[in-house]
Amino acid sequence: MEPFTGLDYYRVDEMYSDEERLVRETVRAFVDAEVLPLIEAHHRRGTFPVELIPRLGALGMLGANLHGYGCAGISDVAYGLIMQELERGDSGLRSFASVQGALAMYPIYAFGTETQKIDWLPRLARGEKVGCFGLTEPDHGSDPAGMVTKAVRRGDGYVLNGSKLWITNGTIADVAVVWARTEEGIRGFLVEKGTPGFSAREIHGKFSLRASITSELIFQDCRIPSASLLPGSEQGLKAAFMCLDQARYGIAWGAVGAATACYDAALKYAKARVQFGRPIAGFQLVQQKLVRMLTEITKAQLLCLRLGQLKGAGRVHHTHISLAKMNNVEKAREIARLAREILGAAGIVDEYPVIRHMLNLETLYTYEGTHEIHTLILGRDITGLSAFA
Ligand SMILES: Cc1cc2nc3c(=O)[nH]c(=O)nc-3n(C[C@H](O)[C@H](O)[C@H](O)COP(=O)(O)OP(=O)(O)OC[C@H]3O[C@@H](n4cnc5c(N)ncnc54)[C@H](O)[C@@H]3O)c2cc1C
Repeated sequence: MEPFTGLDYYRVDEMYSDEERLVRETVRAFVDAEVLPLIEAHHRRGTFPVELIPRLGALGMLGANLHGYGCAGISDVAYGLIMQELERGDSGLRSFASVQGALAMYPIYAFGTETQKIDWLPRLARGEKVGCFGLTEPDHGSDPAGMVTKAVRRGDGYVLNGSKLWITNGTIADVAVVWARTEEGIRGFLVEKGTPGFSAREIHGKFSLRASITSELIFQDCRIPSASLLPGSEQGLKAAFMCLDQARYGIAWGAVGAATACYDAALKYAKARVQFGRPIAGFQLVQQKLVRMLTEITKAQLLCLRLGQLKGAGRVHHTHISLAKMNNVEKAREIARLAREILGAAGIVDEYPVIRHMLNLETLYTYEGTHEIHTLILGRDITGLSAFA
């Protein structure tokens, strides 16, 4: 019998529609041809490949599951497959697409006025403009309800004061979706680059998600017009969490991409690397690791597909997304470590993609709700008791 060399052990592929498979193949070819050849260099330098932004737009990958306003309007499963393939390239690239689509375009789409939608969505979809999402603050990460950034009504607008930390795309964003405390509660605002009193600075020294821009946003007496309020965000933090659900959905899929890249590299290496006169793939302990990796990837692929079906049918609950984000990232993180072990010393150099994915997955474990916070969300769902505070 020929050994199984693929990445789809349960033939999950057969359960996707023709359109979904086509989308997946298009993104896969794009990542192979345009991302993999340059990503290690960007990772080393700690830079994001901005030249790929218009390509993501041209291929319809930005806000792809939104409808109208120049968005592709594809199924949630197809959207998930885009995230999976982008993250097979690099988590930084998938993070860019997630933030642009789920955290900048989605809030405008779901909570914005018609004018805001017409003004921003087509340009963001084409990748002509970049968006970011500012929720986290220096002193409020897992607990955004405590945020101190304030928007105070003054004349025909608001004055914004405060700061946001760890903001993906911050310094390259043309528009920031900023969450701030108002007299009526927490609200979302669109703050344009160049608005006096608004500045952004890049955070350096990261050892994870190096091929991604992470920034601090600072607001000092920043005057914004009333028209910058997202009127549909009157639900406050609930609206912000709805955006996070869109992004977490993408992370659940994306983690599978990073995991498959690691598994693929480890399997190939194990077959080629000879020690004690035979390929290390022939040793039981190495096989055990490879089997564990494939098993978890297969389970995660099935979890994603079902999650996508539920989302597409409008039946997904945010706790379903939490479970998939929590599980798939945790398993991808374990898989990356197992792959690194199998590669031995070669596992710590960027000649192979494994160490890059392994480091990137540390960010996935923490952002968009830490692993622990998703555990507590699920704990509350099944016990009815909140263990948060
Ligand atoms: C590279 C990167 C990009 C990011 N991009 C964005 C972005 O674009 N926009 C944005 O708004 N944010 C972004 N973030 C921020 C991210 O969402 C936060 O880091 C995350 O929410 C956790 O907050 P924190 O880092 O302040 O950790 P903390 O909340 O301080 O948590 C520290 C530790 O305590 C644990 N903990 C906290 N509360 C509890 C509890 N009740 N019970 C048990 N354990 C608990 C946490 O799980 C964690 O292990 C990004 C972060 C990174 C690293």
